[in-house]
Amino acid sequence: MTNAEAPKGFGLAIDFGAAAPAADPAVATKAAPAAPTEARLLILGSGPAGLTAAIYAARAGLAPVVIGGYAPGGQLMLTSEVENFPGFPEGIDGPELMANMRKQAERFGTIMVDQDVDRVDLSAEPHRVWSAGREFHAEAIIVATGASALWLGLESETRLRGRGVSACATCDGFFFKGQEVVVVGGGDTALEEALFLTRFATKVHLVHRRDTFRASKIMISRVQAHASIQLHMNREVIEVLGEKSTEAVMLRDTTPGATSTPERLAAGGLFVAIGHKPNTALLGGALPVDAAGYLQLESDTTASQIDGVFIAGDVHDHRYRQAVTAAGDGCRAALDAERWLAERDASKS
Ligand code: NDP
Repeated sequence: MTNAEAPKGFGLAIDFGAAAPAADPAVATKAAPAAPTEARLLILGSGPAGLTAAIYAARAGLAPVVIGGYAPGGQLMLTSEVENFPGFPEGIDGPELMANMRKQAERFGTIMVDQDVDRVDLSAEPHRVWSAGREFHAEAIIVATGASALWLGLESETRLRGRGVSACATCDGFFFKGQEVVVVGGGDTALEEALFLTRFATKVHLVHRRDTFRASKIMISRVQAHASIQLHMNREVIEVLGEKSTEAVMLRDTTPGATSTPERLAAGGLFVAIGHKPNTALLGGALPVDAAGYLQLESDTTASQIDGVFIAGDVHDHRYRQAVTAAGDGCRAALDAERWLAERDASKS
């Protein structure tokens, strides 16, 4: 496959969040005012975790309200083809997959609100959520606001996203068979992605802005020992070159005092692996987070520390970050919420 062909089957980081990309009219179909402000279950987030939770909760008769963001659907809305979501042997476009999930959720009575959550108050019952000037009350809440990949912030990087620039080797590595690729980052994710990409690429250039890695020792040893990985320490990508697809990157020497002119490094792909940011700001610290800022689960269920508040998807999971794992998590959260509500009903009667 040539790089020019890559965009057809090209996905992006599969993470989902409130900070989602531009709204797609095919997905955003309902006007917010129709949504009731009193709900048994509110779901925050409309990526695979949130919408799978909605499908399960709606089929259980809970009529969930999903506050899915002004730009619903999460980062799969930026993807062209998703090839690793089970059930689609020929692959499916990310926006189509999300539109299908939404239709499926609405079919069973889910109410969608295409607005961002501004803030929440989980300190008392009912839990309260403010969105676009409206106050929602719910007995139970599922937080499925996802995480967003961090990007370098280059204009050329944005322009070539999905055309050789990616934040997910698991999703897109396959499309770079026989090519050279660049991975940026010095943490465990970058090193893991570099090792993964050696299965497809003829050579993996690992570019890190410092002379020491942040990653674990074992990962560093593996990368250093790998014949197909070339390290470019004290270097940063300052531009991605290419019109319709990625052809090369420009590298700048970050060594203090360095005056050398930037070098061109030919590569068909650029994998940005500089971390993810969980979308937790809207919670205002209401739920505890781990050292990396991800929400913490209370047990091996999806329960949080707050009674009636459940957590699903990438907002707590920085290990797997896949559409299918997020969807599975959404299912678990809906089942947990449903049981919690049923027990509460039983205790009242
Ligand atoms: P990290 O925050 O650990 O690393 C991010 C890396 O990206 C750092 O090396 C950082 O450089 C670099 N970076 C950040 N911003 C820029 C920028 N603008 N330009 C260039 N480079 C940049 O994130 P990870 O996603 O790697 O890991 C997150 C957490 O998940 C960690 O705790 C990690 O251990 C864990 N993890 C565990 C795995 C496992 O156990 N299998 C796999 C993957 C992740 P600098 O070092 O200079 O700050």
